[in-house]
Amino acid sequence: MKLRTLEIALEGLDGFARPDPRIEQYSTPAVVAARLLHHADLLGDIGGKAVCDLGCGTGVLACGAALLGASRVVGVELDPGALAVAARNSARLDAEIEFVQGDVRDRALIEGMGPFDTVIMNPPFGAQDPHADRPFVDAALVLAPVVYGIFNSGSIPFLETYLSGRAEIEFAIGGIFPLKRTLPFHRHDVVGIEVEILRIRRL
Ligand code: SAH
Repeated sequence: MKLRTLEIALEGLDGFARPDPRIEQYSTPAVVAARLLHHADLLGDIGGKAVCDLGCGTGVLACGAALLGASRVVGVELDPGALAVAARNSARLDAEIEFVQGDVRDRALIEGMGPFDTVIMNPPFGAQDPHADRPFVDAALVLAPVVYGIFNSGSIPFLETYLSGRAEIEFAIGGIFPLKRTLPFHRHDVVGIEVEILRIRRL
């Protein structure tokens, strides 16, 4: 599937009905999600693979993985309201996804899932809770040998220290995350947040 075709399919999906800033509920814009998935697929990490989307929210990454022919897609998410939107989105695309309501910090849950070939995730950036992305990184490395994640630009040195000895960052693709006004304290309609899409490989 072409990058633009994927982007158009993901653009039509619904976002969060009532985003909760405490758990940083921002849907990944279609352009960023498609970029991550397309790149991962070119490297052989999506089509025909078992893929897990951690903190799947409204399911944009999980849906994209299913559209690219993943053999199994599981989405894990804390918020039942977001999962209801995700289920609707996947039904609209005729995408078969297993949704699990749960917390990525729940060790027993994570250890009982998988194994997967690839984890895809847009974890909280830690704007509200510093290091909120760490439990996502930990869970991802339990679940799969290869992880694609979207992080705040400038996170690499911190992540490298955190990953030390467990995994390595293989490459980063930079991009601008067009964050639309979704919360009352946002002062602009759209702001560009610089992000990095990272491929992390378990050692
Ligand atoms: N992956 C989605 C949503 C990104 S926002 C997308 O790309 O559009 C981050 C998501 O992580 C939110 O849906 C939030 O509810 C979820 N989340 C935050 N903390 C979590 C936790 N501890 N366990 C599971 N999900 C969590």
